[in-house]
Amino acid sequence: MPLYIENRLRWIREMRHKSPCKRCGTLYNHHIKAKCPDCGTLDSHELRELLAQKDVIVRDLRRMGGVFAVLAVLATLLFFW
Ligand SMILES: [Zn+2]
Repeated sequence: MPLYIENRLRWIREMRHKSPCKRCGTLYNHHIKAKCPDCGTLDSHELRELLAQKDVIVRDLRRMGGVFAVLAVLATLLFFW
């Protein structure tokens, strides 16, 4: 079996055992790690900063997705014109 398929199957197996953290939403295996790797050592103030950073990242990714969607529509229109 090719290596990329083995890696993909391993990733799928690992993701099946992960669930979201109740504080920050990060996916991790609760059976292996007792604390969340992202927010397990943070106090409430640091957690708020982490969540604000995550919001900025999500907003930027959505904006980038919108830009690529517009570019895809424009490229399609130009191709068929
Ligand atoms: Zn967390």
